[in-house]
Amino acid sequence: MTMLSESDWLQAWERSCGQPAALRPCAVLAPLFEQGQAAAERLSVGQRDACLIDLCQALFGPGAHAVAHCPRCAELLEMELSLPQLRLPAPPEPEVGLAHGLELALDADGARYRLSFRLPDSADLAAIAAWGGMDAAKQALLGRCVIQASRNDLPVAVAALPPTVVAALAQAMAEADPQAASELALECPACGHRWNEVFDISHFLLHALDDWAQRLLDQVHMLAKAYGWTEATVLALTPMRRARYLERVLA
Ligand SMILES: [Zn+2]
Repeated sequence: MTMLSESDWLQAWERSCGQPAALRPCAVLAPLFEQGQAAAERLSVGQRDACLIDLCQALFGPGAHAVAHCPRCAELLEMELSLPQLRLPAPPEPEVGLAHGLELALDADGARYRLSFRLPDSADLAAIAAWGGMDAAKQALLGRCVIQASRNDLPVAVAALPPTVVAALAQAMAEADPQAASELALECPACGHRWNEVFDISHFLLHALDDWAQRLLDQVHMLAKAYGWTEATVLALTPMRRARYLERVLA
């Protein structure tokens, strides 16, 4: 991924800007896949987040400055996270393959219920984003990810699955895709409250890329204005030479 130029990443950032929130991280990952964004959209959410952690590390280094607010007293916590520590090892892959992702199986309620399913991906998240309310979105997600469901060997509709089976399915999905929910165990220095906070690598990387793109465009603007260079000429300079010219312009 280090073979890609700043110009490539600037393009990926730009393509991501006009997209729905669920697909923005996939647009950023697109240059890393031969089949582009479509391939990134078909990664499970955990696989996608693992790629985002690797990319974030390659572009901005292993440290991540993050902030959180204590839910009890609103104290601001600032912390330095280590991206390699947040990167979990991938769980072993099951045998059965699907056109995209993998088919997984679950026996629930004393094996009365049998389900085959796949893990949610970004295309699923984008599709359910328009559904109003958590319950409707959850049902829509199950409808997309459950491939087959049966009760006592007879087919059963996803909407007819009891809450205990749905809960078992949610747990099986979480265990098969642990990187999908990175949680940080936090303790408030002011009031001692302890809680778990989800670390959202998509949000973090997109924010870092936005900042980086703004800084790069500022540099292009100043050098283009001072020397009459084109954007391509400015971007073709190494960061060190660009910085030296900027020093002279600002002197
Ligand atoms: Zn507190």
